[in-house]
Amino acid sequence: MSHSPLCYNHLLGQEKVKQLLGKALTSDRLPHGFLFKGPDGVGKCLYARGLAAAINCKDTTTIGACGNCSSCRKLYSGNHPDYTVIRPDKGAIKIDQVRQLVKLISYPPYESPVRVVVLEDVHAMRREAANSLLKTLEEPPVGNLFILTADSSREVLATLTSRCQVVPFVTLGVDITTTLLMTHGLEETDARILARLSEGSPGVALTLHRDEMVVMWREVVGFLSDPAIHVNRDVGQLLCLAEKIAKLKETLPTFLGLLRLWIRDLLFEETEILTLSGIGIGVKNWSSKELYNKLQAIDRAEQELGRNCNKNLVCEVLLFTLQ
Ligand SMILES: [Zn+2]
Repeated sequence: MSHSPLCYNHLLGQEKVKQLLGKALTSDRLPHGFLFKGPDGVGKCLYARGLAAAINCKDTTTIGACGNCSSCRKLYSGNHPDYTVIRPDKGAIKIDQVRQLVKLISYPPYESPVRVVVLEDVHAMRREAANSLLKTLEEPPVGNLFILTADSSREVLATLTSRCQVVPFVTLGVDITTTLLMTHGLEETDARILARLSEGSPGVALTLHRDEMVVMWREVVGFLSDPAIHVNRDVGQLLCLAEKIAKLKETLPTFLGLLRLWIRDLLFEETEILTLSGIGIGVKNWSSKELYNKLQAIDRAEQELGRNCNKNLVCEVLLFTLQ
């Protein structure tokens, strides 16, 4: 069995994180809790599992995880009794989830020296849920370690942050993300486009891939960049595309983010992604001012969608402004 996906030392990138975790593991005392803070999709959960594996690995000759002992095998297959992951339930970690957790950790771990509890996306934790966790987080019963994860662009309650050692995660960059996507079986050009569109986040890139967002992006950007498009003549096609975009529902904000990236690339004359996609930069010769206006139109659309305005209408107005 290959141990590379389990031992965090074998993961690509995040050198600072590896250093910090290595230091914590070789010191005499682990903190009670870590807060893994960083953008979406850059490996926070993989590192959480990797740290749990390293702590409970039965092979004491290595600092990391061996990948072969019974503890490593159980973690890898997702059946470790002393590895608990709490995820937001409908957008937030609720007080009931925390109460159950507090009860669980009042018992000693089943079979390992340390029970590892991962609380994902604590930026989405309600204040009362956080408050009911504070005492436990400050002084957990012996044999328990907390790993909290949070999105770096979102506010985390200071009461949680102050009780944890913060471990900062960064985006992996386009090259590493491309390599990682290719190991997932993607062809190089597609991998590179996705790496750019995700701004160096493999997790986000894989989600874009799964949701076929790039296909849609190519179609919309290709249409809008085409110098032969004429608003009066092609209005039917434009309305049809607007309707398709409006149907994206929960992935709609992500799609608007991709459109923003396209306009930003044009503004900074960064054309790699357009060339790779076979769209080309178009010959519409938009001025910087026009491009800024288009960026603002995307912002406006985002705000209106946040206010639950009519999706079809918002997308129609947006496409009219973008073409
Ligand atoms: Zn092991």
